[in-house]
Amino acid sequence: MTTELSPTLSHVSAPTMSYFTDKFFGHVIDGEVVESIEGGTMPVIDPSTGIQVATAASGTAADVDRVVASSRRAFDDGVWRNLSPLEKEARLHSFSRTIDQHRTIFGDLDAVDAGLLRTYTSFIEDFGVNATAYFAGWPTKLQGSIPPVPAGMNVQHRRLPRGVVAAIVPWNGPSAVVAMAAAALAAGNCMILKAAENTPMSAVLMAELAVEAGIPPGVFNVLQGTGQAVGSALVEHPGTDFISFTGSAATGRAIQIAAAKTLTPVALELGGKSPFIVFDDVDIASTAAAATAAVWSGSGQICTAGSRVLVQRSIHDEFVAAMVDASRSVKVGNVFDPESTLGPLVSQTQLDRVASYVDLGRSEGVEVALNGGLTGDGGFFHEPVIFTEVRNDMRIAQEEIFGPVMSVIPFDDEADALRIGNDIDYGLAAGVFTNDLGRSQRMIEGLDVGTVWVNTYQAGYPTVSYGGVKQSGYGRTLGEEMVHELTHIKSVWIAS
Ligand code: NAD
Repeated sequence: MTTELSPTLSHVSAPTMSYFTDKFFGHVIDGEVVESIEGGTMPVIDPSTGIQVATAASGTAADVDRVVASSRRAFDDGVWRNLSPLEKEARLHSFSRTIDQHRTIFGDLDAVDAGLLRTYTSFIEDFGVNATAYFAGWPTKLQGSIPPVPAGMNVQHRRLPRGVVAAIVPWNGPSAVVAMAAAALAAGNCMILKAAENTPMSAVLMAELAVEAGIPPGVFNVLQGTGQAVGSALVEHPGTDFISFTGSAATGRAIQIAAAKTLTPVALELGGKSPFIVFDDVDIASTAAAATAAVWSGSGQICTAGSRVLVQRSIHDEFVAAMVDASRSVKVGNVFDPESTLGPLVSQTQLDRVASYVDLGRSEGVEVALNGGLTGDGGFFHEPVIFTEVRNDMRIAQEEIFGPVMSVIPFDDEADALRIGNDIDYGLAAGVFTNDLGRSQRMIEGLDVGTVWVNTYQAGYPTVSYGGVKQSGYGRTLGEEMVHELTHIKSVWIAS
């Protein structure tokens, strides 16, 4: 590791420092951390300072061949899928426990790698531990069925693992993707986790802990590198059986086209531009605080960020003033300072992208209720911005910015709120804030999204399936639906 010491590292815990020091974040293949065949590397940058803190492998198509061969072997040899259901559960529970025991390291790594507030990464660690515990219980519950057929035949629907599952993931919650690995393994698959190039670190620890927990080497492999070099080669590789992609709509589209060559099935968890809809019967102060939290959390880099805030015209000005007020207490700063409430964006590229949207908003002539700008010394920080009097057809209202930028759009009545809420290519999630039960029911029915939250926002639990419609993708993450998606059905006819 050739790096100068980023000041952020002085805050990480002793166990993290001891794991991290001199660590090379390579591919993990057959239980070993390895370099790229052609020797390629990429820097791991701390978004709080812009300083390189570690080095990761950067693979090529040759590494993709190697990792797929390993996963294929592990699946075809049956080292995992042929274990008894109870044995698989025991090892997955052990995996979940060891993830729990290492939560401090995961939290620290995500804070250094993705620039997420340490208070926020605790939430991600909880999610990872809970989700792995939940999926660990599935091997004994995965059932096929016996459909009714005419006499003389016995038919079984056998539920079988897909095979080699490739998960290609983004950088905004690096440790949370352990849920995906646990689900794939619970269904009997082998997993190739293609980590995001901005956040290669926690995937390595996950795969190392899987082996420690008794999951055979090769069952959970990790591939490092860019989307162009290894992501696309993985998608086109004939040795994978299922692709689970989480990321932007543009990349999702490219992946679906590329996967058509081998007809590999794909599930897409894509972006959003979710409406946070506020009616005039709410408590203004608490709802305004929830609205700002829904965009400032994770510095806006959350797929379900409620970045289009639709406010009923009768309370518009008062509500905007309350959101500005709530945002005054935002403290941009050190991700390890418990007082900080807004951390950096993940990279210089992401910062430039957010800044360009802020310039665009200003040039489109909207009002600026909260005029945040670039801040921080060397890090990729951007203060919160609230645009008001935004028209829903403007680019700042239609496109996913993935930063602390909110567009406030006034509406007149329920029908208007529904029309504006649905008038977008995305369909990931929506929030409805009202004390009118009938109205909330009508909004639930009318909103064309994968998740509706009523008088709450961004609640989640491993049993609850999650996913989008329209250009937010298809397929479901979490819950029973995810385990089923990671299997296929073989129909067996037996003549009596
Ligand atoms: P991205 O699409 O740029 O990259 C995601 C992953 O895809 C990375 O690992 C990248 O290396 C890989 N990739 C890039 N090009 C590829 C290609 N041609 N073939 C194969 N792989 C390729 O997304 P990002 O910028 O890392 O993440 C932000 C996006 O992710 C946002 O749009 C956000 O909304 C979305 N997201 C969605 C969810 C969800 O559950 N719906 C969750 C988190 C993030």
